Formats: sequence, C-alpha cells, structure tokens
Amino acid sequence: MTEIAPQFVVAVVGAATAGSEIARILAGRGIRVIVIEQNARPYGKIEDGLPRWHVKQRKDEYQEINKRLDHPGIDFLPLTRMGRDLSFDELRTGWGLSAIVLTHGAWRDRPLPVEGADEFVDRGLVYQNPLIYWFNHYPEKSYSGPQYAPRPGAIVVGGGLASLDVVKVLQIETTLAALRVRGITEDMVRLEREGIDAVLKRYQLEWRHLDISPCKLFYRRRVLDMPLSDIPPDAVPKRAEAMRQARIKILDKARRKYLFDFEELRVPTGLIESDGRLAGLQMNRTEVRDGRAKTIPATEEPIHASLVVSSIGSIPEPIPGIPQQGEVYQYVDEKVGLLMDGQTPVYAAGNVLTGKGNIKDSLESGTAVGTHVAEAYLGVADDGSRASLADSARRVAHHEAELIAGNITGRAMLPPEQISEILRRVRERQVAVGYEGDYRQWISKVTPADLQ
Ligand SMILES: Cc1cc2nc3c(=O)[nH]c(=O)nc-3n(C[C@H](O)[C@H](O)[C@H](O)COP(=O)(O)OP(=O)(O)OC[C@H]3O[C@@H](n4cnc5c(N)ncnc54)[C@H](O)[C@@H]3O)c2cc1C
Repeated sequence: MTEIAPQFVVAVVGAATAGSEIARILAGRGIRVIVIEQNARPYGKIEDGLPRWHVKQRKDEYQEINKRLDHPGIDFLPLTRMGRDLSFDELRTGWGLSAIVLTHGAWRDRPLPVEGADEFVDRGLVYQNPLIYWFNHYPEKSYSGPQYAPRPGAIVVGGGLASLDVVKVLQIETTLAALRVRGITEDMVRLEREGIDAVLKRYQLEWRHLDISPCKLFYRRRVLDMPLSDIPPDAVPKRAEAMRQARIKILDKARRKYLFDFEELRVPTGLIESDGRLAGLQMNRTEVRDGRAKTIPATEEPIHASLVVSSIGSIPEPIPGIPQQGEVYQYVDEKVGLLMDGQTPVYAAGNVLTGKGNIKDSLESGTAVGTHVAEAYLGVADDGSRASLADSARRVAHHEAELIAGNITGRAMLPPEQISEILRRVRERQVAVGYEGDYRQWISKVTPADLQ
C-alpha cells in the first residue's frame, strides 16, 4: 500500500464552470480535491441553462470542464446531491475535511412576486430554469421530463439576459410550429442565427402571414435600466449614461431579429384565472424614483395570455445548515467568499456567490459583461461574434480559487489516517453510484449519443 503523506483535502460541491476551475487550481497546488456533483454529467448551466443554439460554445466548454476534472489530484463523485444523498452538516462536521467550497450555482427561480402565483406552476405559469432545461433536452430520445408547449402571445416577466433567452425560445418555437403547419420543417439554429424575418423570406413569407401573436416581455423599470450589461461602479457619469443608452440598442437589435413585443415600466400585481389555470396577469404601471420601480396605484390592466413565463432571476437553493440573509447566503467574510469558519471552513464561489458580489466588483473590468459581450451572447453583435459568458465566469472562479487556496494553505495539513478515512467514504459512495474511478470512461458511459 502506498503511504499517504499529510495533505489538505477539500470538497468542492458542484462540478461545472466554477467548480471545475477551482478544483483544477487547488489540485495544481497539491491539494487533494473531491468534487461532488448531483448530476451524472458535470456541465451545470452550460448543459442545462445555456440555450442549445450555442452549439460550439457548449461543446467547447464541455471539453474544457472535462480537461479540468480529469486530473490525478481530483476524485469525482457524481450522482451525489448535497442535501439529499449527503447532508451539508455531515460533510462539514463528520468528514474532517480541510475545507468545503460550494459552487453549486443558482438554480432556484426567484418566485414571481404575486400572491398565489405558484399554485399555477405548470398550469399556465412556467419558470425560466425548467423551461430552458426542457428546451435543451427535449430532442433527446431519453428525455422524460415535463413537456412544455410554447404558445403564441405568451407573457414573459423579466428584463435580464436570461429573459431574452426565454423570449427567443418562445419566438423560435412558435415560428417553427407555424411553419410546420405549412408543411415546412425549419432548423432551430438557422432561425436563431439569421433571425425570423430572414428565414421566412426564403419561403416568400412574412411574420404577419403566420398569423400568430408575438410574445411580450414586461420589465418593471426603463429599458436603459435593463441589466443586460454591467456598468462599472466607478464609471464617470458620461460613460455610465453611454452604457445605459447602449442597452436600448441591444434590446432594439434583439427585437428586430426575433420580433417580440416589449413594454417597460410595468409590474405584475394580480392573477387572471380561468378554469383552474393561469390565464394572464394584472399589470400596473410603475415609475422609477431613485433607481427603484414604484408601482403606481389604480393603473392595473388585465393582460390575457395562455402562458406566463417568469424570468426574474435565479438564486442559490437554501441548504439546511447554511445561514441565509434574504435570498442569499450569509457571509462571515464576503471578500474571500467565506460562509462559515471553524475546523472545516466553508467557502462559496461562482454563481452561488450571487452575480454582483464584492469579489466581482474588485476585478478588472475585463470580467464584467460589457456591451459587446452581451450582444455576442444574444446573437446580435454587428461582427457576428458569439459568446457564452462561461469565460468570464471561469475567470472570476480562477480569482476566487486563488483567494481560497491562500486561506486554506495557512492551516494545518490533515494527518494520513484522516485522509484515508475521507477517501474510504469517497470510494464507498463512488461504488454506490457505479463510478469506477476513471473520469473519461464515466463521461462516455453517461453521455447520450444525441446530447445537444
Ligand atoms: C442567461 C445567462 C446569464 C448569465 N449572466 C452572467 C453574468 O451576468 N455574469 C457572469 O459572470 N456570468 C453570467 N453567466 C454565466 C454563468 O455564470 C455561467 O453560466 C457559469 O457556467 C455558471 O457556473 P457555476 O459553476 O457557478 O454554476 P453552474 O453551472 O450552475 O454549476 C453548478 C453545478 O452544481 C451542481 N449542483 C447544484 N446543486 C447541487 C447540490 N445540492 N449538490 C451537488 N451538486 C449540485 C449542478 O448540477 C451544476 O453542475 C450567465 C449565464 C447565462 C446562461
């Protein structure tokens, strides 16, 4: 038996863009890393949240994540969900680890803030995360999750980049369906690349000939407030104003290409119910005062629609044992993402640490989502370039990993017996889920041939 030397052993929970980058950096510093992932495959938002028209970006990032995780100092533990298969408390107090890094992302949709709305989930109301999951996976033969039927004239409540993804999915899917009725089978990716008008022209058609209502995006503030691109906190007023104006252009380009409707300064305040289903929303007008949207009383108006999609942000899932402040976790030291100190300190990184944490603000502007990156993400950049945002997420994770590594390595290493006991637990779980210790072999076993 090979002798084990004293070492640091860190568990990273969530194996995707942030988790794999952090694991790679820690392992590169001689730290033993156990990567715990709820799914069989480790690709997170890239596989399930980045719409599948980002064909190349998704495939490239799958390969990058594979490269990072296929490292001798990393033990992969798939099909293991913290909070279900393994409690957070047990991991923190029972395993004797040097540290835990939480990189499990932000997968809970922020609830639509209208009382009683959630009673209509899947009965007229759909949230963004399950909708995009369905869109990304429904062409796979083995897909057995919920089925959604995008309907013309849907309401989308949102305003950020993800809500524009939702609007694109609805417009593309309803256009494909309308073309199918005419006996035309079109390609989803072509519609996304070329835009709806351009593709319809090939058939001597125009949007109005399809006789379907476009979906409509409602945003509670002004177009120029839309969080499509980041404005650095230290931007001088003139530059900040130019960046706000650029958001108007981004939205305008997206509307011309995907032909959806838009209304600013509107907020949902009530539900319209019909036959036990959600049949639309009451919308009030708002005004922006001191940067905040204030609802104007007595301005409600019924907006009828057979589908409402809520896309108002994703937040980390609450984990029993992790203190929370509102919808985010509570930090002991947000600068390094330290959630809990003690024998096994707990850090958070990646999307878990919320989009706009101090760490992000302290980075050079290169990691923020600028106007061009937002356009490239949405497929409306003048130069035709494309972006997945994974690069900026990885760069942020890289920086977070350096801070965390600096913190951990100031502590005492674990003695060999403790390391053996941790590795015994890892093997036990790996055997239980059928993972035989070869990362590449596992990935080829759990990747369907028709994975998009
Ligand atoms: C629409 C959109 C907008 C974006 N906007 C921005 C932006 O403004 N700024 C920016 O920097 N980046 C942005 N991104 C990029 C985003 O940060 C990346 O998608 C990145 O991939 C997120 O990586 P992550 O590793 O933090 O999270 P994820 O990719 O979500 O990975 C989390 C992993 O943890 C796993 N997991 C979850 N819960 C558990 C559990 N309990 N136990 C075990 N495993 C678990 C999941 O299965 C998943 O594999 C955006 C992406 C999209 C699609």
